[in-house]
Amino acid sequence: MRKVEEAEAVVLGAGVAGLTAAWLLKERGLRVRVVAQGLGGASRVPVALVNPLRGKRFTLARKGEEALEAALRFYSRFVPLHLGVYRPVPEGEREKVVSRLGGLKHTWDQGGVLLEEAFWLEPRPLLQKLSEGVGVLRSRVLAWEPPYLFLEGGGRIRGEVLVYAGGGQGAHLLGLEGRHIPGLVLLLLDYFPRAISYRVYLAGSALGGSYLPHRSDPEAPPPTEGEVEWLLRGAEDLLGYRPSVASAWRGVRFRLDPSLPPGGVDLSYLFPVEGGFALTGFGSTGFLYAPWLGERLLEVLEW
Ligand SMILES: Cc1cc2nc3c(=O)[nH]c(=O)nc-3n(C[C@H](O)[C@H](O)[C@H](O)COP(=O)(O)OP(=O)(O)OC[C@H]3O[C@@H](n4cnc5c(N)ncnc54)[C@H](O)[C@@H]3O)c2cc1C
Repeated sequence: MRKVEEAEAVVLGAGVAGLTAAWLLKERGLRVRVVAQGLGGASRVPVALVNPLRGKRFTLARKGEEALEAALRFYSRFVPLHLGVYRPVPEGEREKVVSRLGGLKHTWDQGGVLLEEAFWLEPRPLLQKLSEGVGVLRSRVLAWEPPYLFLEGGGRIRGEVLVYAGGGQGAHLLGLEGRHIPGLVLLLLDYFPRAISYRVYLAGSALGGSYLPHRSDPEAPPPTEGEVEWLLRGAEDLLGYRPSVASAWRGVRFRLDPSLPPGGVDLSYLFPVEGGFALTGFGSTGFLYAPWLGERLLEVLEW
């Protein structure tokens, strides 16, 4: 009979959610085991913005200021943070945006507002460093049957608490319903030290955005010409010229159905499930919320 591995907390998923939670649990002195098929899914995006002022409507994300503080604190321990996200503001919208800035540090110029403490980072070195710190058992999980996770090849792993952080790819294991939102990132020959974001975003050598409709499955569709053209037009509006493209990366975000599940501990991205907790369904805000929700997880576990 195969040996059963055991840990106090078993985390399914090695994206930003799972690795951040695992790191914080381990730092508390707990025996943690992370199991994942690979290092990140959506979290392998070439560049991630941590920006609490969301979208074309400039909505201040719920708990956005606290989440930004937690993100600054946590990520700065592992990778360089590129501070400053510039949000061009259309004429006539300035007053609305002023009313939505909350306590975010900012400065205005004629064309928009610079969020001084919002930032971008490179996720891959971050995932690498976190995974080296916590250790990842590379395996596909076939079933979630608390207190066990059943692994491909016949093994299983036992946790006093199980934490689901498997993003969209593993959502079926718990029957979690949500939308899968394809996004495309073009890697450019230019480099933008400061992020610019309106409709599309530019940061580092990345130009990203989401153009395609939501899907019901997590499979990544191939890039389309319409999508590339939409991104380049968006960049041209921001820069005044069309940047040259070197390559492309496709990813799929997972956003939980907002009506589900009941009883979220916080923001509905952290909620109890059979055998433990789920930390998932962030849509475009995984990097903004992972550290803050990781801290909330420690609180609810009272460890
Ligand atoms: C194009 C694009 C741009 C984005 N830009 C930003 C941004 O600027 N800022 C931001 O905050 N967010 C951004 N996001 C969203 C962000 O990437 C996600 O919110 C975040 O990465 C989700 O992280 P996660 O850890 O929940 O999931 P994932 O990164 O998808 O990780 C899931 C993990 O679970 C594992 N897994 C799943 N199923 C199984 C299984 N059955 N067995 C074993 N392992 C399994 C996977 O191997 C992986 O390790 C973007 C997303 C895309 C697609």
